[in-house]
Amino acid sequence: MIPHMDISIIVPLYNEEESLPELHAWIKRVCDNNNLSYEVIFVNDGSTDTSWQVIERLAAANPEVHGISFRRNYGKSPALFCGFRQAKGDVVITMDADLQDSPDEIPELRRMIVEDGYDLVSGYKQKRYDPLSKTIPTKLFNATARAVSGIHNLHDFNCGLKAYRRDVVKNIEVYGEMHRYIPILAKNAGFTRIGEKVVHHQARKYGKTKFGLDRFVNGYLDLMSLWFLGRFGQKPMHVFGLLGSLMFLIGLIAVVVVGASKLYALANGIPARLVTDSPYFYISLTMMLLGTQLFVAGFLGELISRNSDLRNNYQIEKVI
Ligand code: UDP
Ligand code: MG
Repeated sequence: MIPHMDISIIVPLYNEEESLPELHAWIKRVCDNNNLSYEVIFVNDGSTDTSWQVIERLAAANPEVHGISFRRNYGKSPALFCGFRQAKGDVVITMDADLQDSPDEIPELRRMIVEDGYDLVSGYKQKRYDPLSKTIPTKLFNATARAVSGIHNLHDFNCGLKAYRRDVVKNIEVYGEMHRYIPILAKNAGFTRIGEKVVHHQARKYGKTKFGLDRFVNGYLDLMSLWFLGRFGQKPMHVFGLLGSLMFLIGLIAVVVVGASKLYALANGIPARLVTDSPYFYISLTMMLLGTQLFVAGFLGELISRNSDLRNNYQIEKVI
């Protein structure tokens, strides 16, 4: 029988050699004081410093420490994905390696999952120790994410410190840079009990941040993709077909107006304008072209989603 384990702590890291021993000691202290059985999974995302050697040393001295090392740098989401796959604990906690997130939050985060029945609890860095150039766009980003996802009670989607019921991490697939939107992935997979806990945040002690301002551009694009996938991923024709038909209809009406007015003029002996002099001619031309293209995009989308392995990938919670 596999021994029961309370928590798996997953730490994605890229060049964080100075922080790791301190982080590990702190996690160990908190878990031991609270009598929690645990494992720590360090996922080394292709660090170019000595982070992996540090992890090897920690693992040799501590049986609860595990490590996964990528051959190159893939990003935080791939690191989390691989950590999630390995996790064995009932509750899975993710945490940044840079000591900005405090391990002291672990017991309460776990309690909220186990006792309060949350599927996912996200940290909320209410008081942040980051530069203004980051905190202001972050506010905007979170407001948009709330509006798009309908998860209105979260203030800090991208907080690295989060806790999950094990089922959640085994049933969602984090990829690309989607670590910013794990609550939305969870919600799309049917895990709707999503909560928040105000957590303590500290300034980065060692090393420097791995994300620049492009995080906000990419973040918005990813949010659009997620919204689209969640709504129309399985049925692209429903959006492209509708838009295409609408455009085509407008074009058709315009062409009828053009034709009818020409015929009317001819029939009544009024000097007839050239068809190409009418603005409706151009409207109809553009609209019919765009409409057809959108329609074709819808068909192509359907063909692609029909061939995807995910077309019949459902979240089945219980079977009797
Ligand atoms: N990280 C990673 N791979 C990357 C970039 C970052 O594993 O390609 C890790 C990083 O080492 C840290 C966490 O993701 O543990 C958060 O990164 P960082 O602290 O730089 O982000 P910030 O706090 O500035 O949002
Ligand atoms: Mg950080």
